[in-house]
Amino acid sequence: MTYEVVFLIITYMKEFECKGCGTFVCVPADKNKSPVCPECRGVMLLIGNSGGQADLKEFVCSECEGVFFMQKDKLPYKCAFCNYTFSTSPRLKQQERL
Ligand SMILES: [Zn+2]
Ligand SMILES: [Zn+2]
Repeated sequence: MTYEVVFLIITYMKEFECKGCGTFVCVPADKNKSPVCPECRGVMLLIGNSGGQADLKEFVCSECEGVFFMQKDKLPYKCAFCNYTFSTSPRLKQQERL
């Protein structure tokens, strides 16, 4: 059933590390597209699989709806999957139209 699919997505992620700046990114394992570095647009290396880490923060791109995770003290500059630029101000979220 769909419940099991959702469970797998949440608990199984691929871990990537940027060759250039060392930024750590996790993406759901069902995502076939490899991410590019959200900080420097560099190539990301697959370093392993994880069951999810507690200190990661989820980011969702409003352009391509891609989901990726970064360490919670980091903020992405660009989407890991497209050319969308994230705002550095969280307050702008409140201004989105319904
Ligand atoms: Zn980088
Ligand atoms: Zn995107």
